[in-house]
Amino acid sequence: MKAWVLDGPNELHLVEKPVPSPQKAEVLVRIDAVAICATDLEILEYGTPALIQGGSPFHKNFTPGHEYMGTVAALGPGVDEYRVGERVTVEIHAGCGQCVRCRQGMYTSCLNYGLNYGNVNKGHRANGFTTDGGFAEYAINNINTLSRVPDDMSDEEATLVVTAGTSMYGLTELGGLVAGESVVVTGPGPIGLLAVAVAKALGADPVILSGTRDGRLEIGKKLGADRIVNIKRENLVSVVKEMTGRGADYVIECSGTEDAINQATQMTSRGGKVCLAAFPHEPVLTDLGALVKNNIYVYGIRGEGKSATRRAMALMAAKRFDATLIHTHTFSLAELPTALHYARNRIEDAIKVVVKTYDTEVRMGKKELAK
Ligand SMILES: [Zn+2]
Ligand SMILES: [Zn+2]
Repeated sequence: MKAWVLDGPNELHLVEKPVPSPQKAEVLVRIDAVAICATDLEILEYGTPALIQGGSPFHKNFTPGHEYMGTVAALGPGVDEYRVGERVTVEIHAGCGQCVRCRQGMYTSCLNYGLNYGNVNKGHRANGFTTDGGFAEYAINNINTLSRVPDDMSDEEATLVVTAGTSMYGLTELGGLVAGESVVVTGPGPIGLLAVAVAKALGADPVILSGTRDGRLEIGKKLGADRIVNIKRENLVSVVKEMTGRGADYVIECSGTEDAINQATQMTSRGGKVCLAAFPHEPVLTDLGALVKNNIYVYGIRGEGKSATRRAMALMAAKRFDATLIHTHTFSLAELPTALHYARNRIEDAIKVVVKTYDTEVRMGKKELAK
C-alpha cells in the first residue's frame, strides 16, 4: 500500500508499505478520507505528542494522521461486530484494557501509552500517535474505536466526527452539560467551533464564542452560538457577566493563549468549571487564587474518551448541526504536502483540510477533486 512516512521534522515521504493484518478484536480499514488536525502539524514539526518505540517519531517509518474514515476491508480472528464493506469512522485511542486507567474507563489516558515496541506489546494503540495512522491507504483499528457512518453522510463529514468527539469529551469531563446552562467557548478553531455546535445541540443556553477572526466567528453563529465576541473590539469578560449575571457555568478554552486562560478565570461563575482543550507552548501566568477562592474546577483533556466519538456521531447522524461548515478544502493523498501547507498557513482561510484517499471516480479519472 501507499503510505506517507515521517523522516526528519516536516519531512514526509510517500513509500510502499505492506498492508497490515488485523489481530484479535481488530479490523483492517481501507482509508477513504482523512482530515488534517493542528496536532498533526505539531507532530510533524516537534514530534510530540507522538511516541514511537519509546521516543521521538522521527526516522522510524512512522505514518501519522488520525482523523480518518473508511471501509472495513478485513476482519481479525473472532470479529463479528462488523462486516467487510461497512463504512466506519474512527477514534484515535484503543487503551490496553489492563492498566488502572483503562479499568476506570479512561482509555485515552492509558498508562501504557506508547508501550508497543520491541518485545513490549501492551495492546495499546493511538493511531497516528503511537501506532501507524491515516496518511496511508490502510490502517488497523480496534473494534472499540469504530462508529458506523450513515449512508447519507459524506466521507468528508465523517472525518469530522473525531473532532466533534473531542468537543463532546470536554463537556463529558466537565460533568455533563445540563440544558439551560451557560457555556463560553474561547478560540474558534475546529474543536472550538464544534464545541459550540455540540453544546448547543445538548441544550446549552446561552452559548458564547470568542475569537479574533470574524469569518470563523460567523461560522460559529451558524453552528449555534447565541453571541459571538471579537475580542479585538469587545471585552469578553464584561459581555459574559452581562449575559449570565454571575459568570458562565462552563468555559471551554480552545485557543491555548494566556489571555484566554486569564479570561476563563475571570468569567467563570463561583463553582463553575473550566475545560482546557488546547495546549499553550509556554508556562502561563494566571490568578490561581481566584480559582481557589471561587471554587472553580479546572480540567485538562486530551483526546476523545468515554466513547465521545460515538455520541458525537449520534448528533451528527441526526443532523443536529452541520459539521461540514468547517470543511474548507479537499486534496488527494498524493497532494498531502500541499494539503498540510494549506492547513498550516490557513491559506484561503482553511479550517479543516481533508485528504481523499480513495475516491473511485477520481481514481478512474471521471472527475476532478473539488478544492
Ligand atoms: Zn486531531
Ligand atoms: Zn491502559
